[in-house]
Amino acid sequence: MQIIIIGNSATAVGAIESFREYDQSAEITVVSEEPHLIYSRPLLSHFLGKEIERSRLAYRPSDFYVKHSIRPILEDAVTAVEPEAHTIRTASGLSLHYDKLLICTGGTPIVPPLQGIDIPGIYTFTKLQDALSIERYIDDYPISRAVVVGGGMIGIKAANALMKRGIPLTMVELAPRILSAAMDEAGSAMLTQILAEHSVQVLTNNTVTSIHQSEGRFSGVTLRDGRELGAELLVFGIGVRPRVELAKAAGLVVNKGIVVDKFMRASAPDIYAAGDVAEAYDLVVDMNRTVAIWPNAYRQGAIAGAHMAGVDRADIGGIAMNAVEVCGVPAMSIGNGNVTGSEYEVLSEIDERSQNYKRLVLQNDRLVGALLIGNISRAGIYTGLIRHKLDVSSVRKNLLSEHFGLLSLPDQYRKHVVSGSSIEI
Ligand SMILES: Cc1cc2nc3c(=O)[nH]c(=O)nc-3n(C[C@H](O)[C@H](O)[C@H](O)COP(=O)(O)OP(=O)(O)OC[C@H]3O[C@@H](n4cnc5c(N)ncnc54)[C@H](O)[C@@H]3O)c2cc1C
Repeated sequence: MQIIIIGNSATAVGAIESFREYDQSAEITVVSEEPHLIYSRPLLSHFLGKEIERSRLAYRPSDFYVKHSIRPILEDAVTAVEPEAHTIRTASGLSLHYDKLLICTGGTPIVPPLQGIDIPGIYTFTKLQDALSIERYIDDYPISRAVVVGGGMIGIKAANALMKRGIPLTMVELAPRILSAAMDEAGSAMLTQILAEHSVQVLTNNTVTSIHQSEGRFSGVTLRDGRELGAELLVFGIGVRPRVELAKAAGLVVNKGIVVDKFMRASAPDIYAAGDVAEAYDLVVDMNRTVAIWPNAYRQGAIAGAHMAGVDRADIGGIAMNAVEVCGVPAMSIGNGNVTGSEYEVLSEIDERSQNYKRLVLQNDRLVGALLIGNISRAGIYTGLIRHKLDVSSVRKNLLSEHFGLLSLPDQYRKHVVSGSSIEI
C-alpha cells in the first residue's frame, strides 16, 4: 500500500506515528515544499529571540524518517491532486500514485495587498525560513524600530522575539484591541499595559495603508490614521488562512477549511485532511471549524493515520486553546473564554498590580471556557473540566480559588481523570 502525506509538520507526525502503530509494511512518502526536517513552529519565536539554539527546533530526532520507514521528498511542492487517478503531481515533475492520501498543508500567512510588499525588510512569520531571513536582516542592517502588523498570537510571538533582540517596536492592530479573538476586553487591556511597560507602542483600530522604501529597502509606513512611522523592519503577523487551493482544485468539498468527518476523511475516496487546513469537530462549540493549534493538528493527524491503517479511532473533538507569553507574562485562552451573553455565567478575578486575571465561563453548570493571565497553574484542570463537560455546580464557589485542584472535585471524576486517558491534567 502507498501512503502519501502532503505537508511535513505536526499533523504529519501524528499521522505517521499512529499509522505505524498498526501497519509497518505500507510505503509512506511525505512531500514538503520546505527544505527542513520536521520542526516546531511554536518555538520559532524563541529561536528568533535567541532563547534557544536551532537544534532545539527539531520536533523529532533526525532518524525519525528512517525509524518509521518514511521516504521524505523535500523542497518539492505538490501542484495537483487527481482523485480519480489516485495520483499527485509535484513541481519537479513527479507523478506519484497513492492508495491513501493525507492533505495537511496547514495555512498561508495573511498579507494585505499593498504595493512594495516584496522589498527587503518585510517578512511574514510562519516558517523557519522566515525566522532565518529576519535574523539575517537584523544582523546585516541596524534596526532602530520594527513594525509588527497584527496583535494576535503570531504578532505577539514575533514581537516577543524582536523585544528579546532589543529592537524597539510598534504593534499595529486592526481590531479595537490586541488578541481580540482570544481575550476579552479586560484581558486585552492588561496585556496592552504589559506591552506598554516594555516600551511597545500598541496602535489599535489602525492598519498599514502604504509602505515606504529607501534605496530599495523598507523604510517605514503610513497608517490609516495618517500617521507616518519610520522603521527598518516590518513583520506581518496577522494570522493564517487554511491552505485549501489543492483541495479545491481537486474538487473536494471545502468551506473555510477542507470538510472532514470524524475519521478525518475528506469528500473523495481515500483522501483525508487534518490539521490547520481541515474543518474538524470542536467539542466546546459543538460544530466543525478550523482551529489552528499544534495539539489539534497532531491529534487529528493521529486519527487520520489510524484510519488509513484500517483502525477506527473516531475524533472526540478538540478545544480551541491559545497560549502566549507577553513580555514574560503567560496568557491563555481555553475554549469559549471570551464569550458574553445572558446564557453564560462569568466568574472573574482581576489583580492589576500583580498582573493576574482569571475569567471562567459557565453554561448550564458546565465550564465552557477560561482566560488566564499571570498564574496559569490551573490551566490543565480547567481544560479537563471543559473537555469532560463535568457538572461543576457543587464546586462553583471554589473554582476561582487559589487552592482549587483535583482534590476539590467529586471522587468519581477524580478517579476517571487519574486512571483514564486524560493525561494532560
Ligand atoms: C509563529 C507561530 C507560532 C505558533 N505558536 C503556537 C503555539 O504556541 N501553540 C500552538 O498550539 N500552536 C501554535 N502555532 C500554530 C501551529 O504551529 C499550527 O497549528 C501547526 O503547525 C499546524 O500544523 P499542520 O501540520 O496542520 O500545518 P503546518 O505546520 O502549517 O505545516 C504545513 C506544511 O505543509 C507544507 N505545504 C503546504 N502546501 C504544500 C504543497 N502544495 N506541497 C508541499 N508542501 C506543502 C507547508 O510548507 C508546511 O511545511 C503557531 C504558528 C506559528 C506560525
